[in-house]
Order: sequence, then C-alpha cells, then structure tokens
Amino acid sequence: MAKSKVVLDVKGLRVAVAGNEILKGVDLTIRDGEVHAIMGPNGSGKSTLAQALAGHPAYAVLGGTAKYDGKDLLDMKPEERARAGVFLAFQYPVEIRGITNSYFLRSALNALRRERGGGEPELDPIDFLQFLEQKLKAIGWDDSMMNRPVNEGFSGGEKKRNEILQLAVLEPRLAILDETDSGLDIDALKTVAETVNTLRRPDRAFLIVTHYQRLLNYITPDVVHVLADGRIVKSGGPELAQELEARGYDWLRDGVMVS
Ligand code: ADP
Ligand code: MG
Repeated sequence: MAKSKVVLDVKGLRVAVAGNEILKGVDLTIRDGEVHAIMGPNGSGKSTLAQALAGHPAYAVLGGTAKYDGKDLLDMKPEERARAGVFLAFQYPVEIRGITNSYFLRSALNALRRERGGGEPELDPIDFLQFLEQKLKAIGWDDSMMNRPVNEGFSGGEKKRNEILQLAVLEPRLAILDETDSGLDIDALKTVAETVNTLRRPDRAFLIVTHYQRLLNYITPDVVHVLADGRIVKSGGPELAQELEARGYDWLRDGVMVS
C-alpha cells in the first residue's frame, strides 16, 4: 500500500522567543490521518512549536523548514495558514469582547469556505444555527454559550471546550491542540477526547501537545514525541506516553538519549 500523503514536514526548525533560542532543531513529519502527540516537561518549547507553526509573530524562526501540503508554511502569514486549514487551539484561549461566539464562528467558517472555493455555501445566521446544533451536540453543549462574547467569563474548562467547538466548526486539515486537557475535569476531558476522536479523518492530521499522559488514555496517538530542551529526544508509539507517566521526564533530560 502506498504511504499516505505528508501533511506537515518540519526539518531542523529553530525558533527564538524574546531573543532566546527555544527550539534548537526540530524534525517532525505528519501524514494524512495521523495523530501525533508532543509531550515534554514545562518550558521545553511545546507551545513555542505550536505557535511557530501557526505563525505567531512573537516566535522568530531562526532556521529550518516547514512544508504544509508541500507549500512553504513559514512563508505564509498567520491568516493564510488558517485559511489553508491550519488550526491552533490555544493553551490560553483569548477573550474577544463584543463579539458573540455564534457570530465569530459563523464569520470564521464563511471566510474559510470562501477561501476554499469548493462550492460550499456560506451560511446565514439561520442555516448556521442548524449546522451548529450538530457540533454542539458533539461537545455536550446547548446553544446558551453561543450568544455570549467569545470566551468572556468562561471558566477554564469552558474555554477549552470552546476551542474544541471551534475545531469542530472550522474543520481544519491540520489541528494543533496546545494543552487542551489542562483545567478540564474528567468528564470534560472525556467529552473533549471523544469529540477529537469523532473528528479524526483520513484527510485530517492532529498534533496534540500535552504535558500529561491522561488525555492519551482517551485519544490513541499514532506517534508520541518527547520534546526536551528544544529538541525531540525520543519518538515512539502510544506506549511511550505510558512510560513517561510511570517514569517522568528526567530520564530523557540532559542529553541522555535512551533508545
Ligand atoms: P512549554 O509549552 O513546553 O511549557 P514554552 O514553549 O511555552 O514551553 O516555553 C519555552 C521557553 O520559552 C520557556 O523558557 C519560556 O519562558 C520561554 N517563552 C515562551 N514564550 C515566551 C514569551 N512570550 N516571552 C519570553 N519567553 C517566552
Ligand atoms: Mg505550553
């Protein structure tokens, strides 16, 4: 069988934040339909990787390459990346005053549909509400959160669910989830994981950033990578996450490579 298409191909990526080199040469290849997990100690550069891939201007690329569907990702503006199907669920979701969740989601979806030009109709508020119902069901919400300003006054767990709702609505090709599990109680964690599982598709890839293994009890990744001190020091199958849970991260630190 032919190997599926490469969605993201990162080579030697080096990224600085506030003048400090945080990523020191990251290699990562993600194919269609795959779920990759990035684990690692706090401060190892996980969010830096997620933000650099999404194009956050505070994260300066010093070297290396990143191809997305064969195109030079690093050459694309953040909004071009989003329109091309790169989605980042933030570790710290932002609040947007004065814009309701429903308006925000509909505008974003219609902008994406315009860009994709695949003949998908733009949705008016009434049609969108119907579309949204299905997505809300998946994350176990009614529409009561939809007329509130985006994330304003949401609890930590509600913000994370809202990120997953955005993911469900926007139907990205590459979904990057940065610590979407943090701040979730076990029921919300399960709901989020189930939603992610229902969104797995042969033409969609996931990069799931998490410090803890518990999310990976519910979402089985194809590949687990450990990021330590700005480099991927180990990659393996789902069992690597279990091993990290049992042994912590110290055994992988300080340049000690264990194969
Ligand atoms: P992780 O997500 O793995 O916990 P981060 O990528 O957030 O790690 O951070 C890696 C390093 O970069 C840390 O030392 C952190 O202090 C630093 N860093 C991240 N963002 C910023 C920023 N906006 N300004 C200054 N330093 C930052
Ligand atoms: Mg982080």
